[in-house]
Amino acid sequence: MVARFLADDALTRQAETWARDYRLLAPVREGQAVVYRTWAPDMRPFLGRPPTASAKQALLPQTENLLTYTYRKEPTDLTRTEVFLAEPLPPEPTVVLGARPCDARAGKLLDRVFLERGVKDELYARRRAATLFVTVACESMENTCFCHWTGGGPTSEEGSDVMLFPVSGGYVARAITEAGEKLLAALPEAPAATMEELAGILAHLPEPGPAPDLRQAPERFLKLFDDMDFWTDESARCLSCGVCTYLCPTCSCFNITDEDWGLKGKRVRTWDTCMSALYTLEGSGHNPRSARAQRLRNRVGHKFCYHPREFPGETGGQPEVSCTGCGRCIKSCPVSVDIRRIVRDILEKGEGK
Ligand code: SF4
Ligand code: SF4
Repeated sequence: MVARFLADDALTRQAETWARDYRLLAPVREGQAVVYRTWAPDMRPFLGRPPTASAKQALLPQTENLLTYTYRKEPTDLTRTEVFLAEPLPPEPTVVLGARPCDARAGKLLDRVFLERGVKDELYARRRAATLFVTVACESMENTCFCHWTGGGPTSEEGSDVMLFPVSGGYVARAITEAGEKLLAALPEAPAATMEELAGILAHLPEPGPAPDLRQAPERFLKLFDDMDFWTDESARCLSCGVCTYLCPTCSCFNITDEDWGLKGKRVRTWDTCMSALYTLEGSGHNPRSARAQRLRNRVGHKFCYHPREFPGETGGQPEVSCTGCGRCIKSCPVSVDIRRIVRDILEKGEGK
């Protein structure tokens, strides 16, 4: 497909063009953070660094209505009530601008949960089909990034419809899917000199450094499962705040509640976090994961043991894990819990078990 050129000073205009046909989620600066907002006039997209929150919200909103319901009492027999259900409106076609390759890859891992586990989540499926990703390739890796551990990389195209490569004066925009090609139709072809510059940039991307072999991670995790001294040590600093899970592009836990106002109400799905003690609190008062150590074990185990066992497969020589190495959980953890160190400890200490 033809590579196009998106000049810096044409970015806002291009965003406005997309916003006419799509709901556009674009990253903008708010204080220290870069957050996604639905496009509004006067917005200025900011593509200079990875968004603080992931693009997961495009596929799985933090809060979404599953249905609304209305009760109507039978006027001649008040013991009888009819219930009327209404589904939410179909999702709007959406473009997510400025996601990073690790976030676009995360969509595949969310698909595993919501589309491929036997029960298809129809709301998710509709939103997934209506969403396109215009991703920005990473010129460098931050010290919290480890996408190369998980089979990804700074220019990994998996899950993207368009990839923007930063060059002098703007971006080379490369369509990866047919839908992406349509998004770029009005842009000029990238000049030969720009393509040459891009080839030079790609040839000199920084080496990401060695990655541990994760193929042993599931087995070694299971060997350490009952070693509560190990998990207590690993979780000693954790505050159970849940930031790691809320910012994670692959965490998929949710809660469902009914908000009821007399004779009508709505059923709402909201993100939940397995790092909270309330997450597994049962009605009886029993809590199978009352300790932080158990909760951290569950989070890490889900990503590096249970997921690869349920969905065997490899990318770039690594098993498919439910983590794209985006590093958000490391960067934003208030007490610097580092999932890389935990995984390395599992590989090392689980070996001798
Ligand atoms: S962000 Fe850090 S402190 Fe908060 S729950 Fe996650 S690991 Fe614990
Ligand atoms: S576990 Fe951490 S590094 Fe992995 S995808 Fe989630 S937030 Fe990113």
